[in-house]
Amino acid sequence: MSTLFTKIINRVIPASIVYETEKVIAFNDINPQAPIHILVVPKKEIPTLNDIEAKDCEYLMEMYKAIKEITRDLKIAEDGYRVITNCNSHGGQEVFHLHFHILGGKELGTMLCSK
Ligand code: 5GP
Repeated sequence: MSTLFTKIINRVIPASIVYETEKVIAFNDINPQAPIHILVVPKKEIPTLNDIEAKDCEYLMEMYKAIKEITRDLKIAEDGYRVITNCNSHGGQEVFHLHFHILGGKELGTMLCSK
C-alpha cells in the first residue's frame, strides 16, 4: 500500500505543492508549526532515515537542492531556517516516508526537547 506522501505525489490526496522535480516534491504541511512549514519528500518510499542506502544519494542531493531553492525563493535563506527529520517513535515520526521539515519565517529560538 502506498504511503500518504505517495498519494500526494500521485495527486490522489490534494496538497499545496510548492516545488517539484523528477525525484522530489515539496508541499505545505497541513498543520504548520511556523509561518513557513514545508515538507520535502523524495519520490521513493524510503521509510525512515535508518533505511537510506548509498543508491539513494541522488534523492538526497535533490532534497538538499530543493531546500536551497525553496528557501531562496521564499526569501528566508538569508535570515535562516531549520530543517528537521524525525525518525521512528522516539523521534516522533508519524509518516513513514522520509521527509525533511523546513521551518522558518520567524526566529525559531532554541531547539525544543522536553527532558
Ligand atoms: P513526521 O511527524 O512524520 O515527522 O511529520 C509528518 C508531517 O506530515 C506532520 O507535520 C503532519 O502535519 C504532516 N501531514 C500529515 N498528514 C498530512 C496531509 O495529509 N497533508 C499534508 N500536507 N501534511 C500532512
